[in-house]
Order: sequence, then C-alpha cells, then structure tokens
Amino acid sequence: MPAIAVERVPHKAEPRSQASALTTASGETIDPREVSAHLESLGAPEAIAWALETFNPRLRFAASFQKTSSVTVDIVSKLTGDDPSLGDARFFYLDTDVLFEETYVTRDALSARYGIDFERFSGISLDEQSQLYGDQLWARQPDACCGIRKVEPMQTALTGMDCWVSGIRREDSQTRAGAAKFGWDKRFGLWKLNPLADWTEAEVWEYITEHEIPYHPLHDAGFPSIGCTHCTRPPGADGNSRSGRWADAHKTECGLHG
Ligand code: SF4
Repeated sequence: MPAIAVERVPHKAEPRSQASALTTASGETIDPREVSAHLESLGAPEAIAWALETFNPRLRFAASFQKTSSVTVDIVSKLTGDDPSLGDARFFYLDTDVLFEETYVTRDALSARYGIDFERFSGISLDEQSQLYGDQLWARQPDACCGIRKVEPMQTALTGMDCWVSGIRREDSQTRAGAAKFGWDKRFGLWKLNPLADWTEAEVWEYITEHEIPYHPLHDAGFPSIGCTHCTRPPGADGNSRSGRWADAHKTECGLHG
C-alpha cells in the first residue's frame, strides 16, 4: 500500500488559550492559581472529591488500565458510593485497536468489580490507516500514528468537558517530573487534574495490595508502563520505567500529556 505524505497526518492538539479564571459547576468564579496551590497540599481522594464537586458531569476520568487506573477507579468508586451527591463518575479509554489482550481483561475485571461502564473512544480502523498512510505507520512515524489513534479520539472524548483526570506521576519520567496536580491543559483546552502526581511506585502498589484491587497482569511480567503492543516492551537497565515505550524511536510521550 503506498504511503501518503505523513505531514498530512494530524499528530498534535492545537494549543488553546489559557483560561484566566475557573468557573465551578455552581457558577462560582475562582482563581486557578489559588486552587492549584491548594490542591498540591491535598491527598488524592480529597483532590478527586473536589474535582467531582466542581466539574461533574463535565468531568472525565481517563483509564489506561495500568496500575494507576486501578487506584483511581477504587478511590472514585468509594467517594461516589459514600456521597451520591457527587454524581456518577465518567470513565473513558482510548482503544487504539493494538492494545494487549491483558488490557481488555483488566478493563473487564475493574468493570465487574466496580460496575463501571468504561466509555470507548477510537480513531479510524487499522485498515483505513494503512490505506491512507501505508502499513505499520507506528514503525515509520509513531507521532503520526499516536495522533490518529490517541490524540484525535482524545479530542473527541474531551469535547464539552471542563476538566479531565489523568493517572500520571512525577516519578514516571523526567518529562513528567514537574507535573502539577492541577492546571490548564493547553493541548486540549480544559483543566487537568493529576491526583496521583506525587505518589511513589511503592505507594501505588501498597494501595492496590491493601484494597485487593484488580490490576494489569503485565505489571507482574516486567512491564511497568503499558501502551500498545507494537510500542511497548520491558524497560532497559536505565531505571526509567517508561524506557520500554517507543524504545526504537526518539519519542517519550504519545501526545496526551504536556
Ligand atoms: S503507541 Fe504505537 S501503535 Fe499505539 S498509537 Fe502510538 S505509535 Fe501507534
């Protein structure tokens, strides 16, 4: 199949302007810098509760079905179970069609345990991608492939939302080391909460173990970070948990996180 010039492939969300004020679901206007500073001092349950109170239902929780998703799902389910006034939390995932089978197994295990319907967002089919841009775009132009299979569906998932919640942690990589718990996401043009930003690897596993939460089985097979089958392998000896992602390319992020 002939490849079309990859420059035509969108691979980035266009930056949107910074919101200067934050309007809550009740119409109250607050200074986001004060909110951000305050949230840095809160634990994950308190930060998530605040986001539910402030933004729901214009709030979506991203699920990658990695270990941090297990923690977030448990925290959110306990919060909404204890306080129905917070409303139902809306979880979604990006299905690139090249996820590991174990990722779907984890999705189904969390869904069965917590009664969550994870909303699925996806891009064009793999066949259509091959017809338009050639076979194995991930091997030639991973940014373009992520743009089609992750960034564009993400834009759809976040349309009409005021805030989204991610599971990134500062320990994940150097590029995430400065992640704030809360701030404006200029890639997608809405607020973003990273409630686990300051959690350590040990704290994540302590929480999962203590609460006996289903988790992605590939973590036990030497994969600390799990994405698509074509672009995930166990990390090298450099101690970077994400070095197994796009190991053959000069790429460290899929385009979802700034
Ligand atoms: S991680 Fe790889 S296969 Fe998945 S969308 Fe990005 S480039 Fe494509």
